[in-house]
Amino acid sequence: MSEIRPPQPAADPPARANLSPIQQAYSKYVGHAVGCQVCRSVDGEPCTEGEVLWEAYRQLRRGRQAPARF
Ligand SMILES: [Zn+2]
Repeated sequence: MSEIRPPQPAADPPARANLSPIQQAYSKYVGHAVGCQVCRSVDGEPCTEGEVLWEAYRQLRRGRQAPARF
């Protein structure tokens, strides 16, 4: 009489595999920046790791997209 239903999946699997390299690089930077006190400090020294991640993201964007100007 009573059917045993298969359990629902608890949560969607991480969608990282579906992200483009640009999105992965961006989420990597954001993931670092939100937890990094140096990145969040306004008048502190620039964060080397944050800059590296941001530069990687920018270069990916530059390689993918045509420049908006000219
Ligand atoms: Zn940082």
